[in-house]
Amino acid sequence: MSAPDGSASSFQGPLPDTADVVVVGGGIAGTSAAHHLAAAGVDVLLLEADTIGGGATAAAVGVVSPPLRQPFHETVHFRGEEEARSIWEFALRSVSGLGRLLEERGEADEAGLDLSGGYLLAEPHTRHEVERSHQALEEAGLPVHWLTAEEVRERVGARGLTGASFLEGGGALRPGATAACLARSASEAGAEVLEGVKVEATGRRAGSLVCETSAGEVRAEMVVYATHVGSRRFSDFLGDEIVPIRGQGLRVRDAGAQEFPGSYATHWKMNVWRRDPDSGELHLGGWRHDAWDRSYWKMQPKLDQPLQADLGEWFESTFPSTAPVEVMDRWSGIFGWTADYLPLVGSLPGRMGELVISGFSGGGLPFAFESGRVIASIVTGGDEVPGGALLNPRRFT
Ligand SMILES: Cc1cc2nc3c(=O)[nH]c(=O)nc-3n(C[C@H](O)[C@H](O)[C@H](O)COP(=O)(O)OP(=O)(O)OC[C@H]3O[C@@H](n4cnc5c(N)ncnc54)[C@H](O)[C@@H]3O)c2cc1C
Repeated sequence: MSAPDGSASSFQGPLPDTADVVVVGGGIAGTSAAHHLAAAGVDVLLLEADTIGGGATAAAVGVVSPPLRQPFHETVHFRGEEEARSIWEFALRSVSGLGRLLEERGEADEAGLDLSGGYLLAEPHTRHEVERSHQALEEAGLPVHWLTAEEVRERVGARGLTGASFLEGGGALRPGATAACLARSASEAGAEVLEGVKVEATGRRAGSLVCETSAGEVRAEMVVYATHVGSRRFSDFLGDEIVPIRGQGLRVRDAGAQEFPGSYATHWKMNVWRRDPDSGELHLGGWRHDAWDRSYWKMQPKLDQPLQADLGEWFESTFPSTAPVEVMDRWSGIFGWTADYLPLVGSLPGRMGELVISGFSGGGLPFAFESGRVIASIVTGGDEVPGGALLNPRRFT
């Protein structure tokens, strides 16, 4: 199925005439939805324009810790403690559910799964915020532990860090390989998963939804858009609510023996990283608020050399034992975020039979699996998933 450049060759057909549900997009979101739908016995067709797990999912570093885009005390301030806790618990269930599935399928090693915890590190200028966030998490009874500067130095050999919030239940994985595992699981449960099929448009004919694709038409009872920043094609609402932000990624080999178990982030994910368990290489990523004008509303990946250099230099100077790092690969990717940092998961307002699972705000890996369960429960009329209602796209109408 792959072309020499790694992209999928276009599917030559034939497509099935009908499916109960067509999932459009095969990133971590679409494969999660397809997995849960197929497991619930729904007749699913997943159509991916390129390769499974090849979109933003391939660009992700692999941090699966609970939501780190917003300090927890801010979430409490805006939503109250109950909702804030519910969102955190949703992510914890999502990560553990995904981990369990990978273990049960014997694919945890392939997915590089390491759920030994997440570290939110405090720099001198962010200590106050990280500590306040940590206190709010403790007050809500969530599983976190404070590490002193000495403990951080001991665990990760860091210089200039003033403490850390250790997040139980978090960790790291290989994003593209994880999406591929989910697609296989969906397929084994009866879903048809096709690469190289682009959905050009959807419309209604004789009571059914019709997907016009690069390989012909398919009729469906329902369509689930897991198309991330490509969603405007199907809905102006999604195009307006999912704001594209450009992030940078690097894969480096370092000179040190620092292990870095789990995953790491500073300052609401301005820097994130994990060490790959097989290659020993570090996958680093991020963006910086001082590069906001170069990142905000950017639809296309583009290497930002100064930002790439900043990320590498920050890393080397904070973890001197890793210097000099040798850069093996650099890339850029787009993540779509929403005004409240939560994804849009549920029925598309005003569009019967059309659902969405997108806009993970740079944190799709810890959220997508349970979000896929929300989609399946809406489609099948099953039990409501706790916290799922908070992701309803209607909140922006
Ligand atoms: C540099 C960088 C680092 C990141 N690091 C992390 C991290 O450590 N942890 C984390 O949780 N998140 C991280 N993210 C964010 C993460 O990448 C996203 O949250 C997540 O991958 C989004 O998954 P998705 O399935 O919604 O989108 P995608 O993976 O982009 O999937 C959408 C898919 O839809 C397909 N598609 C689009 N239009 C059509 C169409 N018309 N027909 C058919 N198919 C279509 C695309 O080809 C694509 O494969 C990072 C992002 C970047 C850029």
